[in-house]
Amino acid sequence: MTTYTETEERQELRKAVTALASKYGREYFDGQARSGGKTTELWLDIAQHGFLGVNVPEEYGGGGGGIGDVAAVCEELAAQGCPLLLMVVSPAICGTIISRYGTEEQKRRWLPGICDGTGTMAFAITEPDAGTNTHNITTTARRDGDGWVLNGRKIWISGVDEASNVLVVSRTEDAKTGRLKPCLFVVPTDSPGFEAKAIPMELVSPEKQFQVFIDDVRLPADALVGDEDGGLVQLFAGLNPERILAAAFNLGLARYALDKAVAYAKERQVFSTPIGAHQAIAHPLAQSHIEIEMARLMNQKAAALFDAGDELAAGEAANMAKYAAAEAACDAVDRAIQTHGGNGASQEYGLASLLVATRVGRIAPVSREMILNFVAMHSLGLPKSY
Ligand SMILES: Cc1cc2nc3c(=O)[nH]c(=O)nc-3n(C[C@H](O)[C@H](O)[C@H](O)COP(=O)(O)OP(=O)(O)OC[C@H]3O[C@@H](n4cnc5c(N)ncnc54)[C@H](O)[C@@H]3O)c2cc1C
Repeated sequence: MTTYTETEERQELRKAVTALASKYGREYFDGQARSGGKTTELWLDIAQHGFLGVNVPEEYGGGGGGIGDVAAVCEELAAQGCPLLLMVVSPAICGTIISRYGTEEQKRRWLPGICDGTGTMAFAITEPDAGTNTHNITTTARRDGDGWVLNGRKIWISGVDEASNVLVVSRTEDAKTGRLKPCLFVVPTDSPGFEAKAIPMELVSPEKQFQVFIDDVRLPADALVGDEDGGLVQLFAGLNPERILAAAFNLGLARYALDKAVAYAKERQVFSTPIGAHQAIAHPLAQSHIEIEMARLMNQKAAALFDAGDELAAGEAANMAKYAAAEAACDAVDRAIQTHGGNGASQEYGLASLLVATRVGRIAPVSREMILNFVAMHSLGLPKSY
C-alpha cells in the first residue's frame, strides 16, 4: 500500500528532537548569537541523544538511518527556532561522502567525531573567483613525497571556528585546468598554513562564515578521501544531502515563523475581532501553510529516493525541494512580519532577523537561478543556458 505519511519511527524521531530543542528554543539561539556565544551545548546534546549522526552507519557511531532522518532532525531543530547550519555540512555532506567513499581507516578516524559532535567537519567548495561555477575552482593539490601540499582560497565557509576539520574540494596539479576533476581532502583546522577569517554578516546566528586561506598546507596521503579519479561522483554524493538538508533547514524556519504568526493572529485584536479573522491576514498564512506542506512533501520524496539509491531522480527532487522550501520560507517570514505589525520589526519578537536567514536560502548552497537552470535543462530538455 502506498503511504504518504512518514514511518512511525521517523515521526517518533521528530517528536524526540522537538522535545529536546524546545528546551533551548529561539531565546537560547538568539541569545548565543547576540552575545557572541556558540550552540555547542545544544550540538553535544543532540549528539548524545544519537540525533546528530542519525544517518551515519552504526558501526561508526551513527544511528544507521537515512538522509530523511537527519533532515527531520534539522527541520525540527529549526522549527523550534534553532536552525543549525552545520547539520547540513557535518553529518549530511561530510558524513555521507566519508561513509560512502572513505577507506575503513578514514571512516574509523572521522565518523565517530562527526556523530558525537566532538569532531565537526566543515565543507569548503566555494571560491571567490569561481563562485557558482565550481568547475573553475583553483585550489590545487601537489604531490609531495607520500603526501600532498594544498594551496588555495575559499569563501563563505560555515563553521570553520567550530570544526576540527574541513573537507576541502580541490583539484590535483595534473588536472589543474579543464573540466573539474575534484579531489576531496580532509584538512585539520589547526594545520600550519591554514587560516580562517570571519566575514561580518547580517545574519543573526552563532554559526559564522569564513574566508579560508590555504598556503602550502601539508597533508598525509590518507587525507585524500576515496580516490583521486572518482572525485566527481564522490562530490555529487554529498550534494543531494546538502540540498535536502538545506530544504529541511528552510522548512523548519518557515514553520517556526508561521507558528508565531498564527498564534499572534489569534490573540491580537484591534477592531472587534482578532486580526486572524480578517482574510487579509488569514489568507497569506493559509497560503504559507500550503506552500510549506508542498515543499515538505517534495523533500520527503527527495530523501526517500536518495535513501533508496536512486541518485538521478533524487537530484531532480532535491533541487525542486530546495527551491520550494526557500521560497516558502522567505514568504512565510515576510507574512509573519506583516501579521505582527510593528512587533514584526522588533528584536523581542525575533522575526526580522529571519529575513536574512531565510533570504540566504535563495542563494546558498545552490541559488534559485541554478536550480531553474537545472530544471529547464534536465527536466524540460531545454538547451543548456550557461
Ligand atoms: C550563509 C552562507 C553560508 C555558506 N556556507 C558555505 C559553506 O559552508 N561551504 C561552501 O563551500 N560554500 C558556502 N556558501 C557559499 C554558497 O554556496 C555560494 O554563495 C553560492 O553557491 C553562490 O555563489 P556566489 O556567492 O559566488 O554567487 P555568484 O556565483 O557570484 O552568483 C551571483 C548571482 O548570479 C547568479 N548566476 C550566476 N551564474 C548564473 C547563471 N549561469 N545563470 C543564472 N544566474 C546565474 C547566481 O544565481 C546569483 O544569484 C555559503 C553562502 C552563504 C551566504
